[in-house]
Amino acid sequence: MTPFDYIRPATTEASLAAATERPDTRFIAGGTNLLDLMKLGIDRPKRLVDINGLELRTISQTTEGGLRIGALVPNSDLAAHPLVRSRYPLLSRAILAGASAQLRNKATTAGNLLQRTRCYYFYDPAAPCNKREPGSGCSAIGGFNRIMAILGTSDQCIASHPSDMAVAMRALDASVESIEHSGARKSRTLEELYRLPGDTPHIDTNLEAGELITHMLLPPPATGEHRYVKVRDRASYAFALVSIATIVAVENGRIASASLAFGGIGTMPWRDREAEAALRGEPPSGTLFAHVADLVLRNAEGRGGNDFKISLLRRTLTATLEEITGGAA
Ligand SMILES: Cc1cc2nc3c(=O)[nH]c(=O)nc-3n(C[C@H](O)[C@H](O)[C@H](O)COP(=O)(O)OP(=O)(O)OC[C@H]3O[C@@H](n4cnc5c(N)ncnc54)[C@H](O)[C@@H]3O)c2cc1C
Ligand code: SF4
Repeated sequence: MTPFDYIRPATTEASLAAATERPDTRFIAGGTNLLDLMKLGIDRPKRLVDINGLELRTISQTTEGGLRIGALVPNSDLAAHPLVRSRYPLLSRAILAGASAQLRNKATTAGNLLQRTRCYYFYDPAAPCNKREPGSGCSAIGGFNRIMAILGTSDQCIASHPSDMAVAMRALDASVESIEHSGARKSRTLEELYRLPGDTPHIDTNLEAGELITHMLLPPPATGEHRYVKVRDRASYAFALVSIATIVAVENGRIASASLAFGGIGTMPWRDREAEAALRGEPPSGTLFAHVADLVLRNAEGRGGNDFKISLLRRTLTATLEEITGGAA
């Protein structure tokens, strides 16, 4: 591990100042991803700013009827919170589908959103990887790419986004509150937070250097049935091959509203509003669900080893929609 400074400020202001005093600074929360990256020499920060002294561990109700979640709330506490379990069961299930109990006890809300890809080549310093070392090439294109993305890829990077929680947050229309080093506060949807790889795959998000996430904001829960389905190689302790976060309401035999987000298939937590629009106002049917799967997959590109994700997503989505709407008829 490369030598680094470690400080643990007591205030947000001091954390922001410490993060900008010297280049190559990282905030550390649970450390369950960052420390692995440092041990492997993939990330070499010169300074760690431990934010665990900040008061960012509360979950409170907003006046609009939503929830404001502190950036340091552990994943297990968030999943177990009575208001999350009763009003946002999708989020609770997505979190519990990730990692292990020990990891979820340490992992934090913001850290989960900002965890880096699980592409094996990214974690192998001997392999060319544009995300780790810009311009070095992509070993996954033309290599072993079974777990890689089929949507949102570029000819520079095809790595999938790993977070289960972020998929649920996208379906729930969550937004991220942060403070820049200047003190300016920002709010971004998850669509605005994450970046597609394009020709800068080493930059995962639109956060500025030294910008601190403070909270996640959930709007009032959407009406309808909530589902989180995760397909993976083992029943637990494995990242998603395909995951689907779904909220669907059926009224008088027709789909009144629908929210669809996907994990494992995209280079960022994926949402498809065109597919959602195609569901609205229609009676549930197998033909409709097949059409919706076609829409979600309209730009999908397999690279050989991950071709199976196209049919896996199709089957998982149609089965989930059939179940959630009470049958395809
Ligand atoms: C074996 C294993 C299995 C796993 N399985 C899954 C799984 O199935 N599904 C899943 O979703 N995840 C899984 N994970 C990932 C795990 O969920 C993440 O490691 C964890 O959520 C990261 O949170 P953390 O608080 O430990 O982040 P850290 O490691 O502390 O930080 C991660 C990144 O976020 C930045 N950061 C943290 N907090 C802030 C903040 N407030 N503002 C700005 N930047 C910040 C850090 O600088 C760092 O760059 C697994 C991890 C392991 C090791
Ligand atoms: S897919 Fe992305 S992370 Fe994986 S080797 Fe290629 S550039 Fe690196």
